[in-house]
Amino acid sequence: MDWIVDTHCDVLNAIEEQGRDFARRGEVGHADLPRLVESGMRLEFFSCYLPSEYKPERALSQQLAILDRFWRVVGDDRAHFRPVRTRADVLALDTDPRIGALPSLEGAEAVVSLPVLRTFFRLGVRCIALTWNERNHLADGVGVEAGGGGLTPLGVEVVREMERLGILFDVSHLHPRGFWHYLEVSSRPFIASHSNAKALCGHRRNLDDDQIRAIAARGGSIGLNFAPAFVRDGGGPEVTLEHVIDHAEHILSLVGDAHVHIGSDFDGIDSTPVGLEDVTRLGALAEGMRRRGWGEGTVRRIMGENMRRILLEVLPEETDAEST
Ligand SMILES: [Zn+2]
Repeated sequence: MDWIVDTHCDVLNAIEEQGRDFARRGEVGHADLPRLVESGMRLEFFSCYLPSEYKPERALSQQLAILDRFWRVVGDDRAHFRPVRTRADVLALDTDPRIGALPSLEGAEAVVSLPVLRTFFRLGVRCIALTWNERNHLADGVGVEAGGGGLTPLGVEVVREMERLGILFDVSHLHPRGFWHYLEVSSRPFIASHSNAKALCGHRRNLDDDQIRAIAARGGSIGLNFAPAFVRDGGGPEVTLEHVIDHAEHILSLVGDAHVHIGSDFDGIDSTPVGLEDVTRLGALAEGMRRRGWGEGTVRRIMGENMRRILLEVLPEETDAEST
C-alpha cells in the first residue's frame, strides 16, 4: 500500500469543541473517519493539544482526558485503526488495511517528571513537542520573545528519556534557542511535525534554512503545514496548494527529498489553501508535485515514506503493551 502519513491533525480537539461526530462524514472541519479512510491515510498523528486555560495546574488531568478521548474515539476502534507503538506496527501497516494511529503531545506541561513521561509512553504516546507557544517547566515556546531561552535541566532529562524509550521529538513550536540546545543534548532523528520554510514565509512558526539543514543532517524531516498564514506572508484566500508545494520545493533544493513530509494541521486551522480543503485532497497534493515533473520516488517519499523510515529508526522494537 502507498504510504501516506500526516504528522499533525487536531481533530480530537475539534470534535470536542464543535460537538462533531467523528464516525460520520462532516460538512465542516477537515478530518473524520470516513474522510480519513477516503484519503488513503496509512498513519495519522492525532495531536493531543492541551489548551492554554488548563496550564499549569490542571495540565495533567486534562492531558489524560484528551488521551482518553484518543483511545475511546480512535485507538480502541480496532476495526478501523491500528495504534502504532513499535517498529513492528509500522511494518505491519505495509499490508494491514487499517489506519495507523499515533497520539502526540503538543506542549508537555503535563510531563512533570520522568515517571509521568514513562506513564505517557505506556499509554501509547510516541511523539512529543515540549512546548506550544508559551514557556513551561521544560523549555520556552516560540512565542516567548525577549529572554527566550533553551531547555531547562528537566527538559534535557526528558529529551534523554524520550530517546531511551523511543518517543519521537517534535521541534514545531519550540523557541529557536531551544531548537539549538536540543541538538546539543540529543542524537536521534527528529521532526518538525507542522512547520514551513521561513525563507518563503516569515511566520515565527516556520524554520530558517539553518534549522532545515540541521533537521536533515540528523536524518529527520519537516512536515508541511497548510495554515495559510504559515504558507504565504499574511495568509488569505489567495493561498493555494501550489504555494504549499513551493515550500517542499525549497526544502528539496536545500537538503534533497528525504527530509520533507506532510504535517497538515487539519482541524487546527480556520481556513485551508485552495485545493487542500480537507484530508481527502492529499491526492491532489501528490498530483501537484507530479505536475512539477518530480519523480514518483520523490513524491512517495514526501507523501509518507520519509516518515515510515524515521519511525522505523526511532520507535521501540517492542513494548509491554499489547500490539495489535
Ligand atoms: Zn500547532
